[in-house]
Amino acid sequence: MSKNIHPVFDKVLSREDKEKLLNQHAIVVWMTGLSGAGKTTIASNIAKQLNKLGYLTQILDGDNIRTGINNNLGFSEVDRYENIRRISEVSKLFLDCGIVCINSFISPTNEIRNMAKEIIGEDNLFEVFVDSPIEVCEQRDIKGLYKKARAGKIKNFTGIDSPFEIPSNPSLVLNTADKNVEVCVQELLEKLLPRIKY
Ligand code: ADP
Repeated sequence: MSKNIHPVFDKVLSREDKEKLLNQHAIVVWMTGLSGAGKTTIASNIAKQLNKLGYLTQILDGDNIRTGINNNLGFSEVDRYENIRRISEVSKLFLDCGIVCINSFISPTNEIRNMAKEIIGEDNLFEVFVDSPIEVCEQRDIKGLYKKARAGKIKNFTGIDSPFEIPSNPSLVLNTADKNVEVCVQELLEKLLPRIKY
């Protein structure tokens, strides 16, 4: 094969080149909401659907961030801010690689979400408010965290002794208390596909 057949590989690829290579447009899907609202569930389901359709995705969540790059951070205000700052910078790297990056983080305040927006760029961000009343989240309590927080064993727990501010202008609101997982994922998929189709 001639060396000149793929001239694109002779240079460092731009985001546009990589998007062409992957046949998709990159975006950061940012799920915000209370613990137990359904962020992780929706993130893994939407990733599976997108993968089936041929899209390359990367999930960022507590499991791969707080145990790795951010394993030196706690839940104080300063640490929460630094947590989201690093996540935003990592998301930007995936974005520049042409990848659909799916983030699920409580990201409780407007200030924190605005910082993410500033780093990632508003046009590159699809903010999903995964909305479920605290009573429902607390009843689900799949990780037993609400019980611990109520017992005072966890401090600064969002929704209990740390605030959650409702996002003012999200790209999508998914009401996970009233709609099941499949309906929510389908709704998100329909909104997302036009943004990532090449
Ligand atoms: P989070 O990541 O926001 O902390 P999880 O996804 O870990 O929340 O947990 C949400 C729980 O709520 C799961 O047990 C999930 O099965 C349940 N659930 C019920 N309805 C929905 C829905 N519509 N979307 C997402 N999760 C839902």
